[in-house]
Amino acid sequence: MTDVYHWIAGERLAGERTIDVINPATAEPVRRLAMADTATVQRAIDAAREAQPAWRDLPPAKRAQVMYRFKTLLERDADEICALISEEHGKVLEDAMGELKRGIENVEYACGVPELLKGEYSHNAGPAIDTWSNHQPLGVVAGITPFNFPAMVPLWMYPMALACGNAFILKPSEQVPSAAVKMAELLDEAGLPRGLFSVVHGNREAVEALIEAPEVRALSFVGSTPVARRIYEGGTRQGKRVQALGGAKNHAVVLPDADLDNAANTLIGAAFGSAGERCMAISVAVCVGDATADALIERLAPQARQLKIGAGTEKGLDMGALINAGQRDKVAGYIEQGAAAGAELVVDGREHPLVEGSPGYFLGATLFDRVTTDMSIYRDEIFGPVLCVVRVETFEDAIALINAHQYGNGTCVFTRDGEAGRRFADAIEVGMVGINVPLPVPVAFHSFGGWKDSLFGDLHAYGPDAVRFYTRRKAISQRWPRRSAQESAQFNFPS
Ligand code: NAD
Repeated sequence: MTDVYHWIAGERLAGERTIDVINPATAEPVRRLAMADTATVQRAIDAAREAQPAWRDLPPAKRAQVMYRFKTLLERDADEICALISEEHGKVLEDAMGELKRGIENVEYACGVPELLKGEYSHNAGPAIDTWSNHQPLGVVAGITPFNFPAMVPLWMYPMALACGNAFILKPSEQVPSAAVKMAELLDEAGLPRGLFSVVHGNREAVEALIEAPEVRALSFVGSTPVARRIYEGGTRQGKRVQALGGAKNHAVVLPDADLDNAANTLIGAAFGSAGERCMAISVAVCVGDATADALIERLAPQARQLKIGAGTEKGLDMGALINAGQRDKVAGYIEQGAAAGAELVVDGREHPLVEGSPGYFLGATLFDRVTTDMSIYRDEIFGPVLCVVRVETFEDAIALINAHQYGNGTCVFTRDGEAGRRFADAIEVGMVGINVPLPVPVAFHSFGGWKDSLFGDLHAYGPDAVRFYTRRKAISQRWPRRSAQESAQFNFPS
């Protein structure tokens, strides 16, 4: 078993305390992980503070050059990064490659930072006065990331934070730490001056240290809603800028006129890809009319039964193991609750042969019909391979149902009616909307964020909002009157 160390100022640092990192497909420990205490976090902060002023003073084009090289190195070592992700997370290799590619898009966007930081300029804003406003970096900022996207979610954060002139401290999920360290090594190889990017491993103690440290000016968090809320409240109480993205329950509305073959084929991937452990996974299909529901279930059920499941590191699979035993048991518990509450269990993932036949944390795909809004399988984020079908009578009922839910991360509608699609996009209280697109994760030049309990804070992740989040605005007014102009004292407010 190998060790995973903290990465601080280009050096590997062991921890007093360690935990095991488990391969969820085998339930075997694969690595020993150093866990940070407050003093370790402070070392990363001190290194960041020392390195940041010189970095901030570099022309943005020079900072962008580091990002160009980083992108090339990520592509060079993509197979190695994805193998680490699959081994520690359990997701299939092709899915790991998909997340890495979406992450690299954010590095590409950060390469355009000279353009993004250009600011605004007004010549002759007043008599002989020119005014311009620009974006300046915050200083030291930090990110805390979840287990389910070991590469992509950190890449939502630090490429742009660094490109804007900040130093960044990453606290990745302690369940999937290795990709973060590998990518830190690549940033070092890309020529990022040491100290500007550190990785500290840990859980609550490390996060508390980041919240409490006055030198850390902003926190980006992605994870579950209870932790997101706590970090938002704790961080803002300390005067920090915080964006905290939380959990989700994403609905797909299926209208009677939809192309049902297409809807079923794409819903299968959106519900069960990555074993449903995606914040944009579709976990509820809202069918308008019984005929629509019957026809959709008829198409979904055989596909759900036939998914190819196994260790993510093998090729050609649809779905891997869940992240840990607790999560597997929690999802199985929800299946039990749903059946007991009267939902119709069409496909039961607990019956998959790997559940009994493997030490890994496997569950098959589960499909429920006739789910109602009072059931826990409808209300709660399950974060596993469970798709609930809810039947409603009208399109308006579907919109009202989604708008009443606690979460508002992603949603989509399947229809051939452009007017219905447009009305849905206008009326739905959700941050990211798809029309015949079940996973509407915005491209890197648009920002990502949910509404309601799916996001605490004002600015979304990555894209143009990331530039706003990782910088603060300054407006400068400059006056150079002609030498001959006489000035007299002015006591009125300048107009
Ligand atoms: P989590 O909230 O358990 O952990 C996220 C991070 O917070 C980890 O780094 C973890 O070490 C840390 N953490 C955990 N408990 C903490 C505590 N009490 N105090 C301080 N820090 C703590 O989430 P997870 O299980 O790793 O990830 C799954 C969750 O993340 C799901 O709810 C999913 O919807 C959500 N998620 C949301 C998005 C989004 O964009 N909205 C994206 C991915 C995942």
